[in-house]
Amino acid sequence: MIAFLGIIAIMTAQQPEQRWPVHSMDRPRPPVVTPPRAMPPSPAPSDAIVLFDGHDLSEWQQSDGQPARWRVVDSALEVVPQSGGIQTRRAFGDVQLHIEWSAPAPATGEGQNRGNSGVFFMGRYEVQVLDSYRNDTYADGQAAAIYGQYPPLVNATRPPGEWNVYDIIFRRPRFGEAGRVLAPARLTVFHNGVLVHDNVAMRGATAHRREATYEAHEDRLPLSLQDHGDRVRFRNIWVRVLE
Ligand code: MG
Repeated sequence: MIAFLGIIAIMTAQQPEQRWPVHSMDRPRPPVVTPPRAMPPSPAPSDAIVLFDGHDLSEWQQSDGQPARWRVVDSALEVVPQSGGIQTRRAFGDVQLHIEWSAPAPATGEGQNRGNSGVFFMGRYEVQVLDSYRNDTYADGQAAAIYGQYPPLVNATRPPGEWNVYDIIFRRPRFGEAGRVLAPARLTVFHNGVLVHDNVAMRGATAHRREATYEAHEDRLPLSLQDHGDRVRFRNIWVRVLE
């Protein structure tokens, strides 16, 4: 019996990583974990660059360089639907990011059309923002997913109207000659204090309905936030530069 189990274990260990088709509805959903209750935002560390402290959009602009058209409401930064995404005026490579977000309440829409936004490192690598509280969608597109690539290890989403916290370590990809990928982008993500990605290697820049690929780019690029048509709010945004 023990020998038999040993053979099973070896066979399991030798299985290649199962690659699910992008956005597969058959991919198992991560288990739900109830996170601890939300706390009031705590101040940024002394060496952080504060990107939004509840007052103004001075660190942000539209993707085309125009002044940011999102609104400040109740000390939060709110998406103005159809205004377009916004990005930081500064450019970043490796960073630690802290960002808090809240999906509209009461919830409207379903699946990808409920509280959708996103955090794009270097304008390319998305950690999904979505109201995934009792809202089913494809596993690689739910809250805290590395969109189109990796579901979070668990679903730790708080109900709409409550504040969610992402603490993320992002390592930019390294490119060599002729755009060869020397090292992929890597992400470690905590959602409401719960580990949801542990030093995961990205397969490429975020893509929709297709496999991700890399295209060489600069070492520092702006961080952007997505306008997906929902009035998602953000607060207490800061980064620590790790390079
Ligand atoms: Mg999104």
